[in-house]
Amino acid sequence: MPELPDVETFKRYLDATSLHQRINDVDVQSAGLLKGVSGREFARRLKRRRFESSCRYGKHLFVRVDGDVWLRLHFGMTGFLRYFKGEEKALPHTRVLFVFEKDHRLAFDDQRKFGEIGLIKDVDEFLKKRSLGPDALDVDFSGFKEMLGRHRGAVKSILMNQKLIAGIGNIYADEILFHAHIHPATETARLNDKTLRQLFRAMRHVLQKAIEYRADVDRMPKSWFLPHREKGGKCPRCGRELKSSRIGGRTAWFCTYCQARRTLA
Ligand SMILES: [Zn+2]
Repeated sequence: MPELPDVETFKRYLDATSLHQRINDVDVQSAGLLKGVSGREFARRLKRRRFESSCRYGKHLFVRVDGDVWLRLHFGMTGFLRYFKGEEKALPHTRVLFVFEKDHRLAFDDQRKFGEIGLIKDVDEFLKKRSLGPDALDVDFSGFKEMLGRHRGAVKSILMNQKLIAGIGNIYADEILFHAHIHPATETARLNDKTLRQLFRAMRHVLQKAIEYRADVDRMPKSWFLPHREKGGKCPRCGRELKSSRIGGRTAWFCTYCQARRTLA
């Protein structure tokens, strides 16, 4: 499921390929992904326009279109973008296709169709309506500490709650907690100031580095957690077998030795 580093990677990809070109055609192949707009209306409002710039907030990507409208994209479980020329690389699960001048194309591909595509007037208004927390790369330590101090529960559930902090999902929460040496089920009330700082630093480090690795697990160092995060996987730090359990309705993976449950210090 695309999280902050994946969506930032999509943003950079879109910026590098798809800005400032006239949109000659919009082909909506799965209108079910469109939110609050019909396929016909969507195409009508984007045709002959250009994508001018983009911004990311949490797991959301917003693309400014000339003519005072924003395209919003959420990648659901399996969404991604692909830019190509002509028919050369038709993708099997293209849901919406933007055809630019010179027959260059941008496809929103989404096998499982949990993605969302819409047109909005104002990004801030949209974010407010969704009541999203601050972006995980934008929050400072005092805001982070204050947020964790106000909310009880397993630290992993809190990190994944988009209304408290936006951008982190199941996968990167596991990586962050591994770097911070914190068990995912640890109650937030048990995190002292030193541990909170460790967690905050790990969050920024993991998210920033993952963007550098273009959110590609094959580019991540073997000392990271994600390359080993599967049944039978071994902890890259101590070599013990990784364990999993259900936390906040999702499967958490961790090392019981390196991420021992903490007591109040
Ligand atoms: Zn370990």
